[in-house]
Amino acid sequence: MKVQIRSKNHKVSGVGIRGQLVIGFTLFVLMVLIIVWIFQVLLLDYFYEKTKLSELGNVLDGIETYLEDSELDSICADLAGQYDVCISIFRVADGELSELIIDKEVSPTCLIHYADKTSLSSYYHEAVNSSDGTFTRKYPLVRSGFGELTKASSELSSDRDRMKFDKKDHPPADMSDGMFVVAVSVKALTDSEGNEYAAFINLKFTPVNAIEQTRSVQFLYIAAVVVLSAVVFALIFSGRIARPLEKMTRSAELMAEGDFSTQFNEEGYRETRRLAKTLNYAVDEISKTDKLRRELIANVSHDLRTPLTLISGYSEMMRDIPGENTPENSQLIIDETRRLATLVNDMLDFSKYSSGLEIPELRIFNLTESVRRTMSRYNELVRMHGYHIEFDANSDVFVSADERMILQVIYNLINNAVNYTGHDKTVYIKQTVKENGDVRISITDTGKGISESDMSHIWDRYYRTDNTHVRAVTGSGLGLSIVSRLLQLHSALYGVESTEAVGSTFWFELKTYVNN
Ligand code: ADP
Repeated sequence: MKVQIRSKNHKVSGVGIRGQLVIGFTLFVLMVLIIVWIFQVLLLDYFYEKTKLSELGNVLDGIETYLEDSELDSICADLAGQYDVCISIFRVADGELSELIIDKEVSPTCLIHYADKTSLSSYYHEAVNSSDGTFTRKYPLVRSGFGELTKASSELSSDRDRMKFDKKDHPPADMSDGMFVVAVSVKALTDSEGNEYAAFINLKFTPVNAIEQTRSVQFLYIAAVVVLSAVVFALIFSGRIARPLEKMTRSAELMAEGDFSTQFNEEGYRETRRLAKTLNYAVDEISKTDKLRRELIANVSHDLRTPLTLISGYSEMMRDIPGENTPENSQLIIDETRRLATLVNDMLDFSKYSSGLEIPELRIFNLTESVRRTMSRYNELVRMHGYHIEFDANSDVFVSADERMILQVIYNLINNAVNYTGHDKTVYIKQTVKENGDVRISITDTGKGISESDMSHIWDRYYRTDNTHVRAVTGSGLGLSIVSRLLQLHSALYGVESTEAVGSTFWFELKTYVNN
């Protein structure tokens, strides 16, 4: 029987793993690129200039420190070489620049050496008036034709009446439009004797924005390559994640349609492999349940239908046909009704005990007495049908267990023994107390026994051997599985020994309760 499950359209809209990863990767890469662009393109000039100008400060600080040092000249030469700056130090008299005491020229584009004394003086005054005694100014160097000086230098030397130390009358050789920036910094200094000085520094540097276009083009190439790689990587990774999931979805669809032989491929990443493993486990379990459900439907429909058909058939016959209202027919209806009741009760008991909701309520009771009481239920059978049920017990034994459950175990086992015993209609029940203090109840019949192949299945639900029984056996196929479940709930040992054509002995053991 194949269960048909309406196949539904499980298509889900929205972005998949692939789309998600491609979008995510691209956005991430774009974000990184934007950050890099901000720092490397937009703010680089700012940082670069800041670093360069701080170098000017370092040189001025150095000069201030060694102002009175006899080695000042060589120190200035070192600083000029180290920082690639021109240094000029003037003595100051009456607030104006006078004698030039140090003059280190390293750059042919030095503005100090182009400036006239008036311009330099005005710089010095700016420095004197500033809070930290320093004044700095930047000039872009622009060449405006051979023989002419830069904008900056022309500004500094309007009348071209240059200071005597300015020996240049040719334009700087390495100037080209916008390629360089010159910063002139001046600091007003005073030595310990109160003499005043003006230290001029000239620093030439290449502003980074001079190569901005080159950088932007390069940046665009880098961005294109990086974004492309991000998309490719995202596609590769997402493929590795999505492919096993897509396969699993197909398997799950098959499973949903009732194909429990479906297996989920355990491939891909650890998580997907784990998911597949779990789904395989789930499908195995579902297939077991499905098998059980099918068996159940088959057995129950057969077992319930047979007595019901008989009952309704005989009742109608007794009602409609005169003379059929016999005690035998009534007995048959009674038997079938009992059989039905047994089956329904067993089914209810079994589902109750296997649901895990029922837990044993342990109480101390007389096990020997319980066996006797169960035996007494067969008194009539013994009297009327010549059964012989023997109970061999030396003493009364107490156990701590769920009495109701143990009574059911004893009843089911005696019932089977009575049902399956041989023609001598004999059942032996024996109680033995073992050395370890456990009590064993064994129930032996003289029936045809249980074959080797059936032995491992008799405890299974709905398992019934296809023996032709000595008498009409009204079993449900659930008796032993209920026994096994109840004894497992008590963590008790139980088992069966059987020899074909000789008989079977079913037994279980419980711990005796010793009052001390
Ligand atoms: P049932 O209601 O059919 O007796 P059980 O679960 O009690 O169901 O038993 C399962 C099967 O085990 C029985 O159908 C029968 O074939 C076999 N069986 C149980 N008890 C005995 C016994 N004492 N002797 C021989 N076979 C037995």
